[in-house]
Amino acid sequence: MGGGQLGRMFVHAAQRMGYQTAVLEADGESPAGRVSHHHVRSGYTDARGLAQLAELSQAITTEFENVPAAALQQLAKHRPVAPAGEAVAIAQDRALEKAHFVRCGVPCAPHAVIETREQLAAVPADLLPGILKTARLGYDGKGQVRVATPSELATAWEGVGRVPCVLEKLLPLAFECSVVVARGRDGVMVQLPVQRNLHRDGILAVTEVYEGNVPPALGAKAVAATRAIAEGIGYVGVLCVEFFGLADGSLVVNEMAPRPHNSGHWSMDGADISQFELQVRTLAGLPLAAPRQHSAAVMLNLLGDLWFRSAATPSEPDWASVLALPGAQLHLYGKREARAGRKMGHLTMVAADAETARAGALRAAALLG
Ligand code: ADP
Ligand code: MG
Repeated sequence: MGGGQLGRMFVHAAQRMGYQTAVLEADGESPAGRVSHHHVRSGYTDARGLAQLAELSQAITTEFENVPAAALQQLAKHRPVAPAGEAVAIAQDRALEKAHFVRCGVPCAPHAVIETREQLAAVPADLLPGILKTARLGYDGKGQVRVATPSELATAWEGVGRVPCVLEKLLPLAFECSVVVARGRDGVMVQLPVQRNLHRDGILAVTEVYEGNVPPALGAKAVAATRAIAEGIGYVGVLCVEFFGLADGSLVVNEMAPRPHNSGHWSMDGADISQFELQVRTLAGLPLAAPRQHSAAVMLNLLGDLWFRSAATPSEPDWASVLALPGAQLHLYGKREARAGRKMGHLTMVAADAETARAGALRAAALLG
């Protein structure tokens, strides 16, 4: 379900293992639809499209977080679906998501749910300054407003159209990290190593994966928390959980994604089993062997902005000079049009040690401008 880059990389992983794939996506030129054996051109709630997808498939997964949970539940009447619509519904709603974290005993940012004027007026003063986030449909920092005072908060809530929101206390971040786990139907769970993430303007910019990228005790905590969060909903499939490391040395959970995640892309080049192969394996009921990281990795996201470095009309970045760097692995998603802030691809620098991978990433970033 879904035709974006996550679907494209899933399709590639599945095809490498001999599977045929079908993608349901309305856009005729989507990254995943264009590389799949079958492309069902339909909306997510179109009954005929869903029936056609079920007909073509032995098992069904999603690459798109906001696929209607009801569509997954409908498909699950005919074929195994992972993750389940119920789990996806929790990840789609920041209020439900936070309630799940609390249920699992994993601390998250102090927050308040705002759905009514009364709740808005009752927000405790110590949640400010904070970030107002729409409960649904936010991504890459969209649907978020930083607010410092009750009147700014009120204006911001008006500004988002008074939709249900979560107000989160603005936390002093020391670092951000994430953990990808895969859990099979039999409850077997494996994970990728902890990923350290750097965001710019709310969008993931860099992921670093090597020993010592985060304080080891906090990394272990993040892995344990992610496993508890997956276990707590009987999750089947690939799940990514994002965390904040705070200035006082504590760790809090931020959010979860019911699918492979941008911060796990390095695993295609730095580990023997990628997050997309894990997704294929959970879906096909294949064994989940523990992935082994064989290279230090630094991933740079390639946003559409890179296409506008020299002129107002888009031009392709200088890939040749980047590819001349040892350990450079280029992934482009085949999107027709570059736009500012749009994820066009990523570059992973892999090396035998962290220092070399980091130096390579710095050089690549300098070459790309
Ligand atoms: P999205 O769904 O857009 O990824 P997130 O909730 O993960 O939304 O927020 C995007 C980024 O904004 C985070 O990765 C972090 O850098 C910053 N951020 C979000 N919430 C907080 C917070 N409570 N305190 C400080 N920074 C935050
Ligand atoms: Mg996020």
